[in-house]
Parts: sequence; C-alpha cells; structure tokens
Amino acid sequence: MSSARFASVTAADACPCGRAHPSRRSPRPSSYGECCGRWHAGSPAPDAESLMRSRYSAFVLGLHDYLLATWHASTRPTDLTLDPQLKWLGLQVLAHHTVDATHAQVRFVARSRWQGKGQRLEERSRFVLEERRWWYVDGDDMGQPPVRSPL
Ligand SMILES: [Zn+2]
Repeated sequence: MSSARFASVTAADACPCGRAHPSRRSPRPSSYGECCGRWHAGSPAPDAESLMRSRYSAFVLGLHDYLLATWHASTRPTDLTLDPQLKWLGLQVLAHHTVDATHAQVRFVARSRWQGKGQRLEERSRFVLEERRWWYVDGDDMGQPPVRSPL
C-alpha cells in the first residue's frame, strides 16, 4: 500500500477542518483559502481554536513541517512521522476555553480510519501565546480516565 497519499485541497475547496463560514446569511463551510490555508501559508493563527483547527488540517494534508513549527519548543518532538494510510474523517470542536490572556484549551473530537478500523480521538489540548503566536503545548486524551494535573 505504498500508493497511499495525503489529501490535497485547493484554496476554493472546503477546509478540511470543517469550520463554518462566519456569514449567517449564507451558511456554508469556509474554504481552505479563507480558513486554515492562511495559517499554513505563514500568517499567525489568531486564537487557539484556529491553531488547533489548522493543525488538524495539517495532519489531513501531511504538512509535517507546519506541525513541528506550531509545536511549543518545550514539548516539540525531534521528529514526526505521518502515515498517509491514516485517513482523517472529520473534526468537531467541543469547547474553546480561555484560561487567561496567554493560555487556552480546546477540546475536540477527531475521527479517522486506519486499515479499515474507525478511530475516535477526544483530546483537550493546551495552547500558549508567546512571541505573539499561539503554540500547541500538549493535550489530555479524554478517552482515558482523567489524569489530575498539578495546574
Ligand atoms: Zn480550516
């Protein structure tokens, strides 16, 4: 199965993260070009939810460098291997919680399929604002019993 490829989108396609366009008069999905595509192209994501969504889209599209570039230096892995056979099926953001001016949490469910098996990831991710950019720090897998953090 070496032929597996990451998904690709054009700027006009619906964004992989599934975000609705803010226009209430004509409900529709945001396009990649007006959603995560802007952050993938280098503009800083304006809030933790936008960064989280852009990281999900980066997993969908296989944007290895973007994932590392938005990972906080304190928790960033030295390398990251993305498997194109892991197919991402959709993202649902459950909550965006502002902790204080420079800390936020986003709780989400991401569905995927790998070798024919459906998978569901529910995570509460932590983000920090430093150098006028949001960074992904780490997350709790909410599919497991909650772990008490010392925060
Ligand atoms: Zn998006």
